Amino acid sequence: MITEIKGLHHVTSMARDAAANNQFWTKTLGLRRVKQTVNFDEPSVYHLYYGDEFGTPGTVMTHFPFPHIGRGRQGSGEVGVTAFSVPVGSLGFWEDRLSKAGVTELKRDETFGQKRLSFVAPEGDPLALVETANDLRLPWTGNGIGADHAIRGFHSAGLRLRDGGATRELLGFMGYQPFDSSGGIERLIRPDGNGADLIDIETMPDLGRGQLGAGSVHHIAFAVENRAAQLAVRKALMDTGFNVTPVIDRDYFWAIYFRTPGGVLFEIATNEPGFDRDEDTAHLGEVLKLPSQHEHLRSRLEATLQPLEA
Ligand code: ZN
Repeated sequence: MITEIKGLHHVTSMARDAAANNQFWTKTLGLRRVKQTVNFDEPSVYHLYYGDEFGTPGTVMTHFPFPHIGRGRQGSGEVGVTAFSVPVGSLGFWEDRLSKAGVTELKRDETFGQKRLSFVAPEGDPLALVETANDLRLPWTGNGIGADHAIRGFHSAGLRLRDGGATRELLGFMGYQPFDSSGGIERLIRPDGNGADLIDIETMPDLGRGQLGAGSVHHIAFAVENRAAQLAVRKALMDTGFNVTPVIDRDYFWAIYFRTPGGVLFEIATNEPGFDRDEDTAHLGEVLKLPSQHEHLRSRLEATLQPLEA
């Protein structure tokens, strides 16, 4: 079994409108934009990162806003709901705030003994806020959201699969343990993780395959401390028969990717070097940062990428 994985690192979704995406994740949900860069494989498209003050692994939601893509269609083989942890007693505040912001499909319920507010982001992302006791992660505050309400980071990611068996086995190999099951959802936990420790598996045998588009999760990334841990995980996965990419330098972390049996794209990302690699923590995300291989495109990109509000 792999012991190096410590919970989620980031979740990356597709989007369409960069300015609206930026507005929703910073102004409405109150996360900090910790990096403004481009998709390294498609540099005409932004890669926007939102998280806590530092972009701590386990707090970072990222987006690729492709200006012309259509809406995704939810289905199997993908992440359904991405959930964030908020303080106990804060859901009334959020329900009021999100409904005033025009967010739709707001729904309150309780799962696994925790109060939850589900909703759909403007671009179609199924999201939830879950009241979590004793989440000691420090939040980013501002935009009218104080520490008694602010998002702490990821609570869980929910995988929607036609057959959850092989993915459950894989997650077990990755250090996750059964936590509980309820309403057709199996919850797994990575004990001693970084706080973003939960994965839910929802098995839906008759569900059609999801279609990637705006509002769809592109991949989820799991955190390892450093490059040595990543190489150990890569070897263990390859020895088990997974087809894993070589290590790729993403400037703020190193990444490897592999497709899981249920169809979801997994990444393993390092906690090093972090988002302060090329700008001070006090000024993260304020200006467009480009990887060295795309620096020659700067004037064109600055002219064509949609301007973002601070
Ligand atoms: Zn990623």
